[in-house]
Amino acid sequence: MTSRVMAEFDLLLPYSVSEAVTLLASHGDKAAVLAGGTDLLVALKFDYAVENIISLAQVPGLDKLTYDPEGGLTIGARVTLVDILKSADVKEHYPALWQAAKVFATPQLRNTATVLGNILRASPAGDCSLALYALGGTLTLESASGRREVDLDDFWLSYGVTARKNDELAIALQVPAPQAGQKSAFRRMTRVTEDLSKLNAAVCLQMDGDKCLSARVAMGCVGPTLVRLPKVEKILRQAGITPDLLQEISDTVASEIAPIDDIRSSADYRLKVAGVLVKRVIMLALNGGNDQ
Ligand SMILES: Cc1cc2nc3c(=O)[nH]c(=O)nc-3n(C[C@H](O)[C@H](O)[C@H](O)COP(=O)(O)OP(=O)(O)OC[C@H]3O[C@@H](n4cnc5c(N)ncnc54)[C@H](O)[C@@H]3O)c2cc1C
Repeated sequence: MTSRVMAEFDLLLPYSVSEAVTLLASHGDKAAVLAGGTDLLVALKFDYAVENIISLAQVPGLDKLTYDPEGGLTIGARVTLVDILKSADVKEHYPALWQAAKVFATPQLRNTATVLGNILRASPAGDCSLALYALGGTLTLESASGRREVDLDDFWLSYGVTARKNDELAIALQVPAPQAGQKSAFRRMTRVTEDLSKLNAAVCLQMDGDKCLSARVAMGCVGPTLVRLPKVEKILRQAGITPDLLQEISDTVASEIAPIDDIRSSADYRLKVAGVLVKRVIMLALNGGNDQ
């Protein structure tokens, strides 16, 4: 049963991280965290109800986006898609993430939606999440009993389900500093420009001249969670990227994914075009973001 009327809830406004985690500790599964609200408010208008909403709006220090050539990129829990787009460091060092933010939804959404909210939503179509899956990263989670780090590789467990516990607040994501020769890219396919992805792909290649030393290749909209493509990654490892190799990759992708029919596309179509999308995102990474 769906409704456009939100169920009632108490809006809680902590003024520090420690206040926020204390509230999470006392309310547990009766509370949800509100960042930009672009997923949460939609869910509340449909079939989701929760007694308490803990807003991050007044919590200082979570809006930091910092880059250090050795330490890498730190994305705080209130960093929005617009913050990502405005960052020259992200554009230069993490093009896959910048490209995902560029095509994400609409200007209004990009002003509000956060990167960490996209990760916490655990959608198999999440654009920034996918770019970050290819780039690799570690999420810092804090609860009243302390902090822990979770690798993104271990974070998405099934559709909408993550390794985050009910009493944990996501504080920041740490993305490693790129080594010389790292190239990354993101591409997606949608029904219309501002729609959610019907298929998306992201790569991060560690190149030594024309040779690919190692690769992380990720796809979305092809299973209950975002997936990596280990066979494709193996083909790329220690290989020169030639037209024949790209064709081999394109032919392999379908054997690594399990898409379904849904309102955005059919399983059959996704299986047919996924290989071409992966081939194109690799070429985009090699061309430094030029879509030739
Ligand atoms: C019209 C529209 C268009 C969209 N287009 C796109 C698109 O093109 N690509 C795309 O990937 N997504 C899209 N989305 C989905 C949504 O905008 C993104 O997933 C967004 O990044 C979510 O961020 P948020 O800050 O709004 O999260 P919220 O809605 O505030 O939160 C999302 C979930 O994460 C939890 N959460 C958030 N922050 C924390 C935290 N710090 N700690 C613990 N839990 C937390 C919340 O409790 C909630 O469960 C679209 C949504 C709409 C409504």
